[in-house]
Amino acid sequence: MNTTKTKRKKPRGVASLIAGKCIACGARCQSSCPVNCIEMSDAGEPVIDVVKCIGCLKCIKACPAAALEMFFTPEEKRILAELSAAADGGGDEELDEEGRLLREMLAAYRGVWVVIEQYKGEVAKVSWELLGAGADLAATLGVPLSAAVIGNDVEHLCHEAFEHGADKAILLDAPVYLHYRTQPYTDAICHLIEKHRPEIILMGATAQGRDLAGAVATVVKTGLTADCTGLGIDANRNLMQTRPAFGGNIMATIMCDRFRPQMATVRPHVMPMPTVRSGSRGGIIREAFAPPEKDVLVKVLEVIYDRDGKDQVDVAAAEIIVSGGRGLMNKENFALLQELADELGGVVGASRSAVDAGWISHSRQVGQTGKTVRPKIYIACGISGAIQHMVGMQDSDTIIAINRDPEAPIFQIATYGVVGDLFQVVPALIGRVREFKGRNGQCEPVRAVA
Ligand SMILES: Cc1cc2nc3c(=O)[nH]c(=O)nc-3n(C[C@H](O)[C@H](O)[C@H](O)COP(=O)(O)OP(=O)(O)OC[C@H]3O[C@@H](n4cnc5c(N)ncnc54)[C@H](O)[C@@H]3O)c2cc1C
Ligand code: SF4
Ligand code: SF4
Repeated sequence: MNTTKTKRKKPRGVASLIAGKCIACGARCQSSCPVNCIEMSDAGEPVIDVVKCIGCLKCIKACPAAALEMFFTPEEKRILAELSAAADGGGDEELDEEGRLLREMLAAYRGVWVVIEQYKGEVAKVSWELLGAGADLAATLGVPLSAAVIGNDVEHLCHEAFEHGADKAILLDAPVYLHYRTQPYTDAICHLIEKHRPEIILMGATAQGRDLAGAVATVVKTGLTADCTGLGIDANRNLMQTRPAFGGNIMATIMCDRFRPQMATVRPHVMPMPTVRSGSRGGIIREAFAPPEKDVLVKVLEVIYDRDGKDQVDVAAAEIIVSGGRGLMNKENFALLQELADELGGVVGASRSAVDAGWISHSRQVGQTGKTVRPKIYIACGISGAIQHMVGMQDSDTIIAINRDPEAPIFQIATYGVVGDLFQVVPALIGRVREFKGRNGQCEPVRAVA
């Protein structure tokens, strides 16, 4: 006997504007609508085509003024009331065929994976950071944490992965994987997904990770959240992927609750490096999948290192950063910050305003559209502390802000704040650092400023 019940479809309603509540925010509702059924009036308010509206709720979630609501006909309201009463009294009995299949599909995917990015057998540090974040997710879910290691002659990386927290490693080791190429790597990950069905896959938001994650998500038809700043698990085992949205003005938590695997990329230095557990061991699953070289369309003829004429400083990896903003006034004044950075053994960073003004190269930019940094000391000179800057440096161990405006937002996250003219404070700092070094042979700049 077939016991599956077929349920009446839950009415979705249509979006409707609540009179007098729209603040004409700039058409967020319109840009969020997936079926283009919102036009904007001359007053900047939405006019909704109710015939086209599919009741997806996106405009309602996007509206900052709670000016939209769902409209239901009396008949739809009656059905909703009946369904609600039935759910209260029976729950699962009403689960329709679609819901049952979804639940089965979700249950078929288990485990957290981190794709280990490597070049010539050397791992990108973000992969280790992700093993740290992945371990927390795996512990919450009660599943193993696996490292997906792909390359040529890279088995040793599995052991490094165990030392950084992986329980298992899935290894694809073949000459075709010597250099990263989108096609064979995408085929490889898709093959592994098909075979092992992980529920979560994390990759670094590096040039390679962004390329690979997008390609894989497209092939396996799942969601991908790029540049996450926070990861968690909700009560239904779904991955909560938090990232800045609307130009960094709000943090959005994105879910992928109807597709698997759930995929996310995270930028380097956003997650802390896990403690290395020397000698830790795990199981290696050796896979044989390797597309024939003749089928790979892209050939790597030569690898040319971009060393000459380019700014080689890696701001993201620096332990001490002296950053300058619009308060520096011009390009030449960055020499002052370089002097302080040299004394401290650090590097110079910048806000986007300084980069846009052409005072310093983009590779030094810290923030949402620049690098995410996590140094031991971050000294912000003449930087106001816009949210787009702060998301890139707020996890620094110690933040020292120098700004002549006592109301500058940067002071809200600063460990130490100096209200004053940077052209007086920075030379004084340099002098004190030199004094300390001369006296002690070592430097204690942070205490000197405080
Ligand atoms: C989508 C988007 C992405 C963005 N991404 C980034 C990003 O990645 N990184 C980033 O930094 N910004 C980013 N921005 C820009 C960001 O919104 C700010 O405009 C920018 O960070 C401001 O730079 P600033 O603090 O140097 O300049 P301002 O905001 O102009 O601040 C200059 C500060 O210097 C102080 N000052 C001036 N003279 C002195 C002095 N002599 N001594 C001491 N203090 C002085 C002033 O009091 C002021 O607080 C982004 C914006 C958008 C919309
Ligand atoms: S509910 Fe969805 S489809 Fe309807 S107007 Fe809003 S965004 Fe568009
Ligand atoms: S999102 Fe809300 S406030 Fe903005 S235009 Fe639409 S209805 Fe108005």
